Amino acid sequence: MSSMPEFEYKRPETLKELFDLLPGYESGAAILAGGTDLMPRIKRGLEKPGLVVDIKDIEGLSYVEDKGEKVKIGALTTIFDIRNNTLIKDKYPALHEAATLTASENIQLRGSIGGNILQNTRCLYYNKSEAWRDSFKPCLKNGGDICNAAKGGKRCFSVYRGDLAPALMSLGASVCIVSENGEKETALEDIFTGDGVTPFSLSRDELIKNVIIPSAKMKGGYGKFRMRKAVDYPSVNVAISMDTGGKGRLVVGSVGAKPFMYEFSSLEELKEIPERAYKDVSPINNMSLSPYYRKNMVRVLAEELIRRV
Ligand SMILES: Cc1cc2nc3c(=O)[nH]c(=O)nc-3n(C[C@H](O)[C@H](O)[C@H](O)COP(=O)(O)OP(=O)(O)OC[C@H]3O[C@@H](n4cnc5c(N)ncnc54)[C@H](O)[C@@H]3O)c2cc1C
Repeated sequence: MSSMPEFEYKRPETLKELFDLLPGYESGAAILAGGTDLMPRIKRGLEKPGLVVDIKDIEGLSYVEDKGEKVKIGALTTIFDIRNNTLIKDKYPALHEAATLTASENIQLRGSIGGNILQNTRCLYYNKSEAWRDSFKPCLKNGGDICNAAKGGKRCFSVYRGDLAPALMSLGASVCIVSENGEKETALEDIFTGDGVTPFSLSRDELIKNVIIPSAKMKGGYGKFRMRKAVDYPSVNVAISMDTGGKGRLVVGSVGAKPFMYEFSSLEELKEIPERAYKDVSPINNMSLSPYYRKNMVRVLAEELIRRV
């Protein structure tokens, strides 16, 4: 088993203190929320920060608030609290179901919505110990210039396997990003680059402060196909949310470096999406299930979810 490498550890109590610390970020600092994605990455040598900045002591980052036209969820709100929140259960079934199916209860108690959104992409040839990875040439995500999963591949095909982002995208969510220069609101889908090496457009001195969802009672649901029911990342996941007029979004995840999003304005249009999604996705051999099987499961899961919701 690999041992934890050394790093400095700080716990700022205000955003100002955080942004005073983050100039060191460029030279290797990392924000820590629940740590359930970051710590395994550090332990495996996938990330080597000199400084880990724990944001759990910063007040005012954990809440679910109904602000009239919008519902705001603080970035440190745990997946467990989201799962048990009655407002979310009532208005946003896709998000409630996604939180319920995320990992296991002990990870839900620790993992935050901000960390869940910003969890890194994964690959069978990359999320391994340093010793295991040393038996291959370094891949694009690991500082090299090849892809070990797709021979001859010139880009990184690592997969984004988060549960909450597809559900949030189906709800038209945005994120409030804060840095020492101020705040900006960005549609959630716009923070994904589609590049497995650098999956998010956030710069290293920016923090997600909260997630913002338009306040409407939505119909919908979430489907997750995974190898082990007790605890596992999605191998394919699908979220659907629609308003009372039948307009909405269907989002497919875990088949690329970012989720695939489809908009619809009627049930007829919604019913055509599983076939479109099946044609659009091209998973490769970088997970324990075959690309052929995962591609087929996109259509199966989406059709099943449409029937259910
Ligand atoms: C055994 C196991 C099973 C898992 N199963 C699943 C699963 O089924 N589904 C799933 O979605 N995930 C799964 N995960 C991944 C992870 O546990 C969750 O995604 C969790 O929600 C991450 O949240 P966190 O607060 O622990 O993030 P952290 O590990 O603290 O952070 C993750 C990343 O986000 C950055 N970050 C965190 N918060 C902020 C912020 N507010 N602003 C800017 N950057 C930030 C960190 O720097 C880091 O890069 C699993 C993990 C393990 C260990």
